[in-house]
Amino acid sequence: MDIIHLLPDSVANQIAAGEVIQRPASCLKELVENSLDAGATRVQVIVRDAGRTLLQVIDNGIGMSEMDARLAFERHATSKIREAQDLFSLRTMGFRGEALASICAVAQVEMTTRRAEDETGTLIEIHGSDVIRQELCACPVGTNIKVSNLFFNVPVRRKFLKTDQTELRNLLTEFYHIVLVYPKVSFTFVHNDEILMELPAGTEKQRIEAVFGNPKRNVYTSAFVDVNTETELVSIRGFVVKPENATRKAEQYFFVNGRYMRHPYFLKAVQTAYSGMLAADYQPSFFIYFDIAPEAIDVNIHPTKTEIKFADEQTIFQILMASVREALGKFTLAPQIDFDTQGSIDIPQPPTDAVAAPRVTVDPTYNPFHTRGAIYPDRAPKNWESLYEGLGAAKPINAAMQPTDALSVTEEELLRPEDLESCPLWQYGGRYILAPSAQGLVLINQHRAHAAVLYAQFTEQLSLSQGAMQQLLFPEVLSLSQEEMVLLNQILVDLKAIGFDMEQLSPDSYSILGIPAQLANQSPIPAIQHILHQVRERGADTQREWREQIALTLAEQAAIPYGKILTETEMREIVQKLVQLPQYRRMADGKIIVSLLTDDEISRRFS
Ligand code: ADP
Ligand code: MG
Repeated sequence: MDIIHLLPDSVANQIAAGEVIQRPASCLKELVENSLDAGATRVQVIVRDAGRTLLQVIDNGIGMSEMDARLAFERHATSKIREAQDLFSLRTMGFRGEALASICAVAQVEMTTRRAEDETGTLIEIHGSDVIRQELCACPVGTNIKVSNLFFNVPVRRKFLKTDQTELRNLLTEFYHIVLVYPKVSFTFVHNDEILMELPAGTEKQRIEAVFGNPKRNVYTSAFVDVNTETELVSIRGFVVKPENATRKAEQYFFVNGRYMRHPYFLKAVQTAYSGMLAADYQPSFFIYFDIAPEAIDVNIHPTKTEIKFADEQTIFQILMASVREALGKFTLAPQIDFDTQGSIDIPQPPTDAVAAPRVTVDPTYNPFHTRGAIYPDRAPKNWESLYEGLGAAKPINAAMQPTDALSVTEEELLRPEDLESCPLWQYGGRYILAPSAQGLVLINQHRAHAAVLYAQFTEQLSLSQGAMQQLLFPEVLSLSQEEMVLLNQILVDLKAIGFDMEQLSPDSYSILGIPAQLANQSPIPAIQHILHQVRERGADTQREWREQIALTLAEQAAIPYGKILTETEMREIVQKLVQLPQYRRMADGKIIVSLLTDDEISRRFS
């Protein structure tokens, strides 16, 4: 008996659906993109239970004929490309003709649609790829598609969904990515009968304001300056935050030809443009729109990936960095930017794919933040090596000096608690604590050491719900976007467990009455905003994950900063607590806390 057989379409569609429709947010994305491809100027999104029970999209686009309404749900049915060649000149959002087929394979779909030239519209109902009914109906021009009980026939997928709050947040994230590139289209977003967002048609700036602004705060977009560069290769427009308005929690959006994209390499270009202008852990917010010939980018064949490859990434990196610099230079008086030295900034290699990998040389010393010499030419003398000429011995530390032996020293031997009772401790450069040990000279990064101690403390307090709270003299008000609100509600129990005392004031604000004692006199607002940012960026969806982000963020925030002069008692306290940690040489993320200069290395310097 033959054992190979073709899968029935319904099964093939379910398999394809696993690729295209992973969660309610991907379904929403496909539906809204279809509305935009259909030329809609008004799109309404209606959601119930974070999309589990209902996802409805109503548009006033061109609609479909009776025949097309049926065909639209077939696999590889699309009105957008006819031949492979078309793939390279794509200007529509969809093209694979898979979305509707996938959606109707895993949900109950009811759609009404009408074209302007038709008197009657079509109603079609499909449950798990089976057409239940198709009939004529009276309906307005455009398309109204209702997706109910997503994954009703795929229990595994259903179980795989996260909490409603996480799924709603994913829906909003996906929604933001789209509405920010279609400012001329008006959108509404309704969840469980509550209007979460009402976005009138307008300019890009007005759209950004409508999404992220808050009438009670200052005008959001006034914190930004325009970027505007036209070159033959690419046009770059958009808005970047003024350095003085940067925060720890940043909104960072790149779009290319009307699509959202992630691009870590270009992100580096923007960050480099800001180098020297932002405090250590501050991030620039930006909304940057690229326009480029479709042939110059890799058509994003994969339905769910948002990373896009450009033909000439290094050149665009430079153009982007220069445009952002120029924009910032116009609006900031200090620090002065010297454009003549632009060319001397190291352009890091763009990430390359596997085929080219063997030829890539990685510069491990590259750090996008270490471009001060170029930006402040007067502060970092050029040809600094020449200062050492004639001083033979004073060459930069070479490989032979690498502390190889230091690695064999165990943590127990490195800093022994009993020695720490009485040994002298010094502070160096406002950054390091120096301690003598039987093994040599121990250098401890003061900020990281304290952060590691606090991280352990916060983690324990979270698991026991025993955060120490300090009442604020003057409560502060925290205003939030809808997306942030959803996120905050999700992690609220843990914020309270760690010592935040907070009460909801209005649908988009909280009053902060108390803070974790370790934050002492710091403002709670940036701390909470930073937590929200980290939880979102890291995709911390489980309690374990977001607790970790809360502990990390607060530890980072509350740890003694670089530059703080410490008394010997303070140093001793930090170091004593540090060595009690199960592992204290490195942070959880691998950053070095403690380094050892062995006796050997020291004496070699004098030989
Ligand atoms: P794709 O968007 O990749 O073409 P879809 O499965 O998303 O594939 O849609 C199939 C076809 O159905 C589209 O090419 C389009 O012709 C039609 N269609 C889908 N949604 C709409 C809509 N909201 N308005 C008009 N036509 C639509
Ligand atoms: Mg589509």
